Amino acid sequence: MKLRTMFVLCFLLANCSPGYTFTAVNHPRAEVATVVVPVYVDGSFSGADKANIVSAITILNDSLNGYQHLDVVSTSFDMKTDDIVAGLDGIIIMQVWSGGDHPCSFIPVSDIPGATVLAWSDKLAGHMIWVLRDRIRDDQIKSIVLHELIHCDLGVGHIYEHVSIMNPKVNDGIECVDEDAMQSAAAKNGWDINHLNYCIIQSN
Ligand SMILES: [Zn+2]
Repeated sequence: MKLRTMFVLCFLLANCSPGYTFTAVNHPRAEVATVVVPVYVDGSFSGADKANIVSAITILNDSLNGYQHLDVVSTSFDMKTDDIVAGLDGIIIMQVWSGGDHPCSFIPVSDIPGATVLAWSDKLAGHMIWVLRDRIRDDQIKSIVLHELIHCDLGVGHIYEHVSIMNPKVNDGIECVDEDAMQSAAAKNGWDINHLNYCIIQSN
């Protein structure tokens, strides 16, 4: 598999993030046929991690409001060939490690000086997400998987100008799709922002 080093990250500032206030903005669903995206979750994730991953997917589905529905078809993905072929019609979320007995041999280097990669996707609007589990706290799984899904499923890149789930440095503790990220997703996918759900983030 050719690895196209996409970006990634979600890190730093874990102890110096300000608190945020999140305001939900909800809209009526668009009258469109829902596109179903199958999702395969690596069976080696713990039960708690799987629950956080499913929670991230639920958050994204609620935001997509019927335009798309990510459907978790497996939480026991094990890299069998048939599963990989099936997964490439959707999204595969895999657990990898930076050390230990079987360290991942293809961890990308961040394009941001001084940053540490915590997770990455094969490309924007791609099919594969890798989570570097030993670099991530338990309570970061949900926001990091949500960040990567927005790259991988919706084709949204990084947002540096504002606090956002898609800001690679300032997203710790954010567990919703914010307005800037959703505006980008709507533009890339031809969706009407007035039929999508998102949050508005204010720093306290
Ligand atoms: Zn990223």
